[in-house]
Amino acid sequence: MNKEFDVICIGAGPGGYVSAIKASQLGKRVAVIDISKERVGGVCLNEGCIPAKTIIHSSEMYAHIKKYSQFLGFGAKIGKPDMKQLLVSSREVVEELRKGIFYLFKKYGVTFIEGKAILNSPKEINLELKEGGRETLKAEDIILATGSRPQELAGIEFDEKRIISSLQAIKLNYIPESILIVGAGAIGIEFGSLFNNLGTQVSIVEVKKNILPNQDLDISKSLKRNFKKRKIDIYNESRISEVDKQKSLLRVKLDTPVGGRELDVELILVAVGRIPSTDFQDFSKVGIEVKKDKFLKVDNYMRTTADNVYAVGDIANRKMLAHIAYKQAEIAVMALCGKKPPPINLLNIPTIVYSDIQAASVGLTEEEVKRQGFDYIVSRQYFRSNSSSVINRQTDGFVKIIADKKTRQFLGIHILGFEASEIIHQFVVAKSGGLLVDDMAKFVYGHPTFAEIAKDACLSVFNKPIHG
Ligand SMILES: Cc1cc2nc3c(=O)[nH]c(=O)nc-3n(C[C@H](O)[C@H](O)[C@H](O)COP(=O)(O)OP(=O)(O)OC[C@H]3O[C@@H](n4cnc5c(N)ncnc54)[C@H](O)[C@@H]3O)c2cc1C
Repeated sequence: MNKEFDVICIGAGPGGYVSAIKASQLGKRVAVIDISKERVGGVCLNEGCIPAKTIIHSSEMYAHIKKYSQFLGFGAKIGKPDMKQLLVSSREVVEELRKGIFYLFKKYGVTFIEGKAILNSPKEINLELKEGGRETLKAEDIILATGSRPQELAGIEFDEKRIISSLQAIKLNYIPESILIVGAGAIGIEFGSLFNNLGTQVSIVEVKKNILPNQDLDISKSLKRNFKKRKIDIYNESRISEVDKQKSLLRVKLDTPVGGRELDVELILVAVGRIPSTDFQDFSKVGIEVKKDKFLKVDNYMRTTADNVYAVGDIANRKMLAHIAYKQAEIAVMALCGKKPPPINLLNIPTIVYSDIQAASVGLTEEEVKRQGFDYIVSRQYFRSNSSSVINRQTDGFVKIIADKKTRQFLGIHILGFEASEIIHQFVVAKSGGLLVDDMAKFVYGHPTFAEIAKDACLSVFNKPIHG
């Protein structure tokens, strides 16, 4: 095995594999290490974005078929999906995408090594090989991308059978009768929507006042109404006080603003956040500062406090998203190649929640805009006025634009609705590229499309939309 490289990436998730490919494209001799071949793609490919969205998509297809059976009269009885088959289908997707990453490693000459790595020094890695034995590898630059894992909640620790994290939820091979989801952030909301589609009785408990507490209030409130219509029980400003595990169902006591509540549930899914994986070695010994919140300290170029060691993705970043890891990987590699890439601008990075009607946003929320003292204007364009939405019988939701009254710049865009994850990218491009609301309103869109709602939403900021 070659033991000297220009760049070594530790972790082959979105941060690590993208760093490796990018560095190789720029002429570096690169190795990427992960604990096993099956981990390539990281959390995103193995137990996050990809399998979750595959199962969510399948659950939505099932719900849509049931809905369409009424419209089209092919009615009769539609059985429940076979979870085992759903899992097979999700693993097929994962494996296909993993093959794609290995293809890219080969194409760009990236060496993949299976093993557990720790830093001996900022230029030396101690590797415990998966096949057995140890190696010492050297590199000019090292990129740390070891990701994150689910956060545990004191008092309701994971037993991985009845009290589970997303790790087990993504591999569940049966449909539970009932589930209590703790935490109404993106992961909790997505699993809530998924299980509801499959016919599970879903309850969600969240300590904060709203679901999706970091989103624009209009989105949180409207999604909550949508969930209630779907018979999902939501307990805001509530927390679990006790879990009795003696019976076949878990008996959960909740403290809610209107007093105590008791629920009997088959499963509890704890989705209260993730913690960075920074505890696999003593970083202080190699001069790398770990912050109080356990994230590695990095600057705008993703440099840690040790020369030539960079950190990207979930270990360096509170906003844990795969596309942020991708961008940070690009920045780190440019920086180690001696370039000065512009820092990541979180205000131009989209956030997407894949519930049945999706929540997608970019920029500031109205609450933030208010706090920051902008003179702003808000418009809302409803999906029911968009012909594609009517054709597809997906008329719930709206596009909300918050713009600066004087400069006509976009401040924040928040979408709740079908295909919001796709529509938002028009605004990402417009906002990142410095287009004004008026610029976007001038473009001609194909008809009928969901995309057209973006034009009408822009027209409705300062003028009158045609459809609305
Ligand atoms: C259920 C769920 C759904 C999600 N959905 C989305 C989504 O829709 N969109 C989105 O943008 N993000 C989503 N995320 C978040 C996304 O998965 C993460 O932000 C992303 O995976 C972070 O990438 P990373 O490279 O930093 O780390 P990871 O993907 O965690 O990869 C880290 C890798 O490092 C390896 N590793 C760790 N320690 C060592 C070591 N010592 N030696 C060698 N290898 C090591 C691990 O095996 C792992 O493969 C989701 C997460 C979850 C849990």
